[in-house]
Amino acid sequence: MNLKSERRGIHVDQSELLCKKGCGYYGNPAWQGFCSKCWREEYHKARQKQIQEDWELAERLQREEEEAYASSQSTQGAQSLTFSKFEEKKTNEKTRKVTTVKKFFTASSRTGAKKEIQEAKAPSPSINRQVSIETDRVSKEFIEFLKTYHKPGQDIYKQCKLFLDTMNHKKDLSIEEQSECAQDFYQNVAEKLQTRWKVSPEKVEKAMDQIEKFIMTRQYKYVFCPETTDDEKKDLAVQKRIRALHWVTPQMLCVPVNEEIPEVSDMVVKAITDIIEMDSKRVPRDKLACITKCSKHIFNAIKITKNEPASADDFLPTLIYIVLKGNPPRLQSNIQYITRFCNPSRLMTGEDGYYFTNLCCAVAFIEKLDAQSLNLSQEDFDRYMSGQTSPKKQESDSWSPDMCVGVKQMYKNLDLLYQLNERQERIVSEAKKLEKDLIDWTDGITKEVQDIVEKYPLEIKPKNQALAAIDSENVENDKLPPPLQPQVYAG
Ligand SMILES: [Zn+2]
Repeated sequence: MNLKSERRGIHVDQSELLCKKGCGYYGNPAWQGFCSKCWREEYHKARQKQIQEDWELAERLQREEEEAYASSQSTQGAQSLTFSKFEEKKTNEKTRKVTTVKKFFTASSRTGAKKEIQEAKAPSPSINRQVSIETDRVSKEFIEFLKTYHKPGQDIYKQCKLFLDTMNHKKDLSIEEQSECAQDFYQNVAEKLQTRWKVSPEKVEKAMDQIEKFIMTRQYKYVFCPETTDDEKKDLAVQKRIRALHWVTPQMLCVPVNEEIPEVSDMVVKAITDIIEMDSKRVPRDKLACITKCSKHIFNAIKITKNEPASADDFLPTLIYIVLKGNPPRLQSNIQYITRFCNPSRLMTGEDGYYFTNLCCAVAFIEKLDAQSLNLSQEDFDRYMSGQTSPKKQESDSWSPDMCVGVKQMYKNLDLLYQLNERQERIVSEAKKLEKDLIDWTDGITKEVQDIVEKYPLEIKPKNQALAAIDSENVENDKLPPPLQPQVYAG
């Protein structure tokens, strides 16, 4: 069996995980296939262009106004009217400019009453208290940590406070702009630590993790799945899609994981728990850590099943399977949140970046999973999707682990009988088809023969000519030379 070609639907070339600019970092669908660095370059370019265009338009309009104003100046009385009109248009222009720039980077429409909605959405007081206790704990830990950095530590704390204040005033900005602020902040702090404070790269990395933890614990409730985006809508769509695909078996995805081995099924359960746990974390890096933990359990499950190290080709289908089985809550929101607010250096390189890119890829696959990628016929796929039938209700994974062996065996036998019955029916229908084909074929041939016979009827001419007269009509015969006679050559 050729596994490679079978898995064609789910195979992803490792190069497809990288930034499409070829810089070597990991890319991400949220950044249209770019890495964080290249995406920001593109984003700036687009924004500069938009601003430039808006300015040009504004200048042109102003010129037109001024010309109109100059020409109407001779007519007294009209002057004040035109001037007020000019002012009005200028204000209009200003608001238009702001909205177009915003529109350019905000996918969905913005809700004006954002704050009220967020307050209405706020969790119950007890949860709030819990959250604030955690925030306090994180703050204390952060301050303790910064003490080990002495002077730069104080500076870091000041910068973070300043950033949080700025973000407080920027709550009305689009999520992309807020993300931009956070990314700029990470970049500036890291640069400052390296150049001004001469902190070693390892210590910078450690500090960056703590900074991310501190600021994102506080920012989480404002920037996770905000009302101004369609993140929630996407979450629901993915969740619905995964539910509709509940019938997908490991065999269809060519997942090299045998859950009948207790150790393997243990790993699968752990992987599912990790990916579900991601939603409960508030810090992007903690969320990433859940994905990495989940991925490692998947690699282990494959390794135990195959008795050899897992390849990247084995990993992605298995990750898809785990996501389908776990249906993690708010999957898109979590991915978006990590993409927007994680320290970009984490996503662009290293283990965390690799697994995160694979998860984004898995979600993209789930969104477009079709008959071909599951090695099914279109009819079967449609039937399963519509819920008319289920491929194998008795799959081992739907059994509870404590079910007794006899019952399991019975289900297995029932399944076999069911398959046998299906095959029998298929054979009967195929045989009937063959019979019909044969009859049609015989009829066809008969008809063809009859047609030919009609077209070229068989005529038997009477035997009235002797064979000797075969060339009697040949009048030139006499002129032919006599036939050669054999001669004996006496040499
Ligand atoms: Zn790049």
